[in-house]
Amino acid sequence: MELLGEKCAVFGVYGKGLEVARLSFFGLFALQHRGQESAGMAVADGESITLHKGMGLVSQVFTEDQIQQLKGHISVAHNRYSTAGGSHVKHAQPMLVAGKGSVERPEDAPSAGMYPYVSLRSAPEDDTIALVHNGNLPSTTALADFLRSKKIDSSEYSDSRMMAEAIGALMREGKDLEDAIVEVYPLMTGAFSVLIMSKDKLIAIRDVCGIRPLSVAQLNGGYVIASETCAYPTIGAEFLREINPGEMLVIDEKGMHTRTLGTPNPKLDIFEFVYFARPDSELLGTSVYEVRKNFGVQLARENKIEADVVIPVPETAIPSAVGFSRTSGIPMELALAKNRYIHRTFIQPEQHIREQGVKAKLTPIVSSIKGKRVIVIDDSIVRGTTSRQIVEMLFEAGATEVHFLVASPPVKFPDFYGIDTPKQETLIAATKSVEEIEKYLRATSLRYLSYEGMIAATGLPESSFSTSCFNGVYPIDIRERAKEVKNV
Ligand code: AMP
Repeated sequence: MELLGEKCAVFGVYGKGLEVARLSFFGLFALQHRGQESAGMAVADGESITLHKGMGLVSQVFTEDQIQQLKGHISVAHNRYSTAGGSHVKHAQPMLVAGKGSVERPEDAPSAGMYPYVSLRSAPEDDTIALVHNGNLPSTTALADFLRSKKIDSSEYSDSRMMAEAIGALMREGKDLEDAIVEVYPLMTGAFSVLIMSKDKLIAIRDVCGIRPLSVAQLNGGYVIASETCAYPTIGAEFLREINPGEMLVIDEKGMHTRTLGTPNPKLDIFEFVYFARPDSELLGTSVYEVRKNFGVQLARENKIEADVVIPVPETAIPSAVGFSRTSGIPMELALAKNRYIHRTFIQPEQHIREQGVKAKLTPIVSSIKGKRVIVIDDSIVRGTTSRQIVEMLFEAGATEVHFLVASPPVKFPDFYGIDTPKQETLIAATKSVEEIEKYLRATSLRYLSYEGMIAATGLPESSFSTSCFNGVYPIDIRERAKEVKNV
């Protein structure tokens, strides 16, 4: 069974008279940072669903022509994150499943070429549904057993495909969409912020912990649902509220109504604040930018270092460097320049090409580095590959000392909820002590933000978060995957 880490974005619109395809295009564009491997959207017009999805960035997948062909008043849209080995258009979303009639779907036959795509219109008599998913289900045994009981072989399916198939299977037995979702919800054991669309409804569901973000906004009498709030201002939508953990929100002709499908146990993944979310988003009513700045303030309080200059690794660590510089009084320079047009799609996941990748991405500005004692700040260290090269780059540019400061604690535990931090043995802090990592990086010193400092910087109670990658406490049972985790 193929299980894929899905660090993605979802976006949806419901609104008669709104140009939902164009709004979704801009929504996906604002959420491009959450996934660059593939993009897609499905639009419903009350009769059938039109789908277009393909490999590449949002701007590579959609032309003006395609946007104009996607007609209707409801949409669901998705950006998928690139993962090693899983790069194929069959994993692109939205996923379509027939709610009536035949189980066969035409979308298994993509176009060929550099950017393969799938483009189709569903038959009205199929009662097709479309599903998009952000998150990851560590265990899919319950879903696989259920599908087997319906004579569906799920061995080739991703977790997202399994959810869509399970809902479709119940609809083909005569259940309506809402009832089918209610029945499948307890089988979805993991992290999910999911949107499901039928020809006349848009439905959002979130796991009981709300591990991945999801919220709803208003726009000209219609509604918009997005992974991150940064998508709303770009389309003129007004933030209403977060979708609650355990909630099912249904939007249809009658307006918006809500049901609770599971007992909420709110635990947002703190890694959204650390690395993943855009700084202009708000999570749990709190600005991501301000929290990252506070990480820097805390780092400066915890570490007194004599140095001449503070340099952030762009982009995520810039707010933390601002906070650090203000608190420590050490001036900040943007002395690592980033090529803005480089995307992960262009960097192969293999380790040796990753190493070259850092040089294609970052260039040192020698005049701000030469002869200086440098503090360099990054948001996190995962494998350690990037940090090692940054240290080398700074010494080559003439730094006399390189103090590496990390605006989060050591990442020691693998992720199962959709941020795709790799297997535990590849996480450098799972196998090496801070002193050993410092040696490996060849840094003058290495300091991490303390766990308590990270929590304090959010201004929110520790209990509001999943912090599994730092402490190995997994709020949603990871079931059979627990054997992959060693206590370190
Ligand atoms: P490395 O230590 O070489 O694996 O790279 C760590 C850098 O990648 C960090 O500085 C982050 O900016 C970024 N990063 C952190 N988490 C992730 C993730 N889940 N996927 C991709 N990049 C990440």
